[in-house]
Amino acid sequence: MMNQSVLVIGAGIAGIQVSIDLAQMGFPVYLVERTPSIGGRMAQLDKTFPTNDCAICILAPKMIECAGHKNVHLLTYSEVVGVEGHAGDLRARVLQKPRYVNMERCTGCGECAAKCPWRVPDDFNVGLSNRRAIYIPFPQAVPRKATIDAPHCVYLQDRAKNRCRMCEKVCQPGAIDWEQQERIVELSVGAIVVATGFDPYDAGVLKEYGLGKIANVITGLQYERLVSASGPTSGELRRPSDGKPPREVAFIQCVGSRDVNYNPYCSSVCCMFATKEAILANEHDPQCRSYIFYTDLRAVGKRFQEYIARARTEYNVTYIRGRPGVIGENPQNGNPIVRYEETTAQQLRAMEVGLVVLCQALLPRRGQQDVAKLLGVELDEYGFVNAPARLRRPVDTSVPGIFACGYCSSPQDIPDSVAQASGVAARVAEMLAGE
Ligand SMILES: Cc1cc2nc3c(=O)[nH]c(=O)nc-3n(C[C@H](O)[C@H](O)[C@H](O)COP(=O)(O)OP(=O)(O)OC[C@H]3O[C@@H](n4cnc5c(N)ncnc54)[C@H](O)[C@@H]3O)c2cc1C
Repeated sequence: MMNQSVLVIGAGIAGIQVSIDLAQMGFPVYLVERTPSIGGRMAQLDKTFPTNDCAICILAPKMIECAGHKNVHLLTYSEVVGVEGHAGDLRARVLQKPRYVNMERCTGCGECAAKCPWRVPDDFNVGLSNRRAIYIPFPQAVPRKATIDAPHCVYLQDRAKNRCRMCEKVCQPGAIDWEQQERIVELSVGAIVVATGFDPYDAGVLKEYGLGKIANVITGLQYERLVSASGPTSGELRRPSDGKPPREVAFIQCVGSRDVNYNPYCSSVCCMFATKEAILANEHDPQCRSYIFYTDLRAVGKRFQEYIARARTEYNVTYIRGRPGVIGENPQNGNPIVRYEETTAQQLRAMEVGLVVLCQALLPRRGQQDVAKLLGVELDEYGFVNAPARLRRPVDTSVPGIFACGYCSSPQDIPDSVAQASGVAARVAEMLAGE
């Protein structure tokens, strides 16, 4: 008899969906997430193409359903550190990092974060703002519990000096627990699902685009946070240098992707998310014009071509075929200057804009190699989880009993990740039923 429990690694939209589906079919699920909250990248997005639905409004109910399901056991702030056995009888070791906060006592009131004096660049806002050393990652976080970021907590860095401990002083329920230690949880499961998602490529490597040097050159994910109501500007599109709303925004496609010098493959979602972000610029300010510099427009999904047509005709979006060679800066006003060849007209041109958004390559998560090594699964030449029998069993990895879905298996958008996650749930159920 196969063990009927399932371990899911990674709680983005793909990991959440596969967990909900399996839990609803009656399988006990252990959902392991590296960060303090489930949600993954979708939680950072403002809207989703091609319908411009609010991302968190779709995601948050799924996060709550998943965490509240009686068959789902969440292990957040945790990572898998060992796996052995075979399909139907696998044993995993999960390392749970200390939050230094008692989960039962913490009410998620946020008073500790409000009073903590130590500021740290906020990952969730992609460095556009700071958070505190004790923090709840975002307003809709699940579980909505505080975490102390140990390397940035002045007390934890040198207990002997006994400095600060402000969080402990202001925490009414007495939830701060300095004695928490790392602990290992041993799990026995029948199947494992990998859903570890993606990380954006470090566009700073392409020095010619000035990321990190020119204040008004940002990335696609930073733009999502800028236009999001829960972001650092409360949803107002303001450029970093002077807080002014930009009148022209240039989106540069294929930054570090579709390029044999960096990452040869297409990240699949950028043409569409740049179109979405350009539409949002115009919704925020109807005077705002956007320019999307593209290699080819890849609009292969349902209603995608129509979305691009609407962007052109209704939202002041111009598509320019060409890869900019270099981005400079006007020292008078901080405006980026984009130099490019418009390949359809075979003309070299320059354009001064208020803001540049780099749509960089999206890569398998950092640490994907380690996860693959633990599980023994093959990766492809770019580091995505390989499905050796892609045509017949597209979600099966090279190891029986281990499956993959979402961006870690191949570049894909949210609807495809959800569909693939449900496909994995069906495959796991079939296998555990003894097919
Ligand atoms: C700027 C931008 C805008 C986008 N806009 C859209 C859009 O409008 N519409 C759309 O359909 N798509 C959009 N996308 C794509 C979308 O974000 C992805 O399709 C989606 O997030 C993939 O979900 P996932 O669950 O596979 O991965 P992720 O969202 O990356 O989630 C993976 C999860 O796994 C966790 N994890 C990673 N490694 C480990 C580990 N070793 N152990 C435990 N946990 C781990 C991570 O912390 C994370 O929570 C956009 C992407 C970008 C960059």
